[in-house]
Amino acid sequence: MNRSTLAGALKSPLERAMEQPQVSAVVPIYNEVESVPLLVERIANVLQQNSFSYEIICVDDGSTDGTTELLRQLAQSRSDLKAVVLRRNYGQTAAMAAGFNHAQGQVIITLDGDLQNDPADIPRLMAKLDEGYDLVSGWRKERQDAMVTRLIPSRIANWLIRKVTEVKIHDYGCSLKAYRSELVRDMNLYGELHRFLPALAFIEGARIGEMPVQHHARQFGKSKYGLGRTFRVLMDLATIFFMKKFLTRPMHVFGLFGLFAMLLGIGLGGYLTVLKLGFGAAIGDRPLLILAVVLFLTGIQLFSFGLLAELAMRTYHESQNRPIYRVREVVSSKAE
Ligand code: UDP
Ligand code: MG
Repeated sequence: MNRSTLAGALKSPLERAMEQPQVSAVVPIYNEVESVPLLVERIANVLQQNSFSYEIICVDDGSTDGTTELLRQLAQSRSDLKAVVLRRNYGQTAAMAAGFNHAQGQVIITLDGDLQNDPADIPRLMAKLDEGYDLVSGWRKERQDAMVTRLIPSRIANWLIRKVTEVKIHDYGCSLKAYRSELVRDMNLYGELHRFLPALAFIEGARIGEMPVQHHARQFGKSKYGLGRTFRVLMDLATIFFMKKFLTRPMHVFGLFGLFAMLLGIGLGGYLTVLKLGFGAAIGDRPLLILAVVLFLTGIQLFSFGLLAELAMRTYHESQNRPIYRVREVVSSKAE
């Protein structure tokens, strides 16, 4: 436990609630020097006008265009802004994770640092959360990005993600989202998994909502992504698929397929053995022999893989004291 969490633990719940802002706006920023001052100003205005207590957390993801210095100055002069400066460029997901770790608000709002998302949508997202959701995702209904490199791949990716994750929202890539902070603490981010946060949240049992939001064309700087991202997203999708299906019971899947393949291999092998020994048939050049051998070996591999996956999953849960369930609330008439 480091010093700040120790201090946090020593405070009474009331004290902590008093200093906990209602909203933490988390913004990953990589070389967006022209946008940053405007962005911070707009977020602050919207939140003040709607009388939310808030903090803005700008995560500088290894910028090289002067964003770092600018953020440093801004954060020194404004009490509502915290700048988290990463040592190098880690990518948007890691930058968001850093922001989450420094956010103290009851609700965490993420948005892009390039002004493509509109802070004016934040109060509506908050209202929607209050309807009983744990996560509300923005939907860029009229998205202002390049057609071929962005919109088309994104449409295909969204369709695939929807099929695989069964989280029925339209636009996974939209950064503008609102989360209850407990939810964010339960999720671990790797790779480019930030777009799968709704799916990860769903795995953690969250209620997920969606709401159309505004989207503007980029005014300054340029996009950090191109077509290459699609492939990384696909790989991450495979991970999510695995996590969702097998996180707590890999043996059910791998073991079952393994056993099935093994039994089939043994059956075919037995049949060939009978032919050979009982009837003296030549089996050396039969494709069936190859099939029997392949099935048997594949079966053993899948089965052992299932066992290893079981071990890995146990380590995953136990090493971080991750329960295999999530409690929404505990109702009891006794005082705690
Ligand atoms: N970003 C980041 N680290 C990176 C790449 C991007 O923090 O390595 C930030 C970027 O500054 C922006 C957000 O992530 O605030 C989204 O990036 P971008 O606007 O380039 O993506 P697009 O909107 O084109 O999908
Ligand atoms: Mg953008």
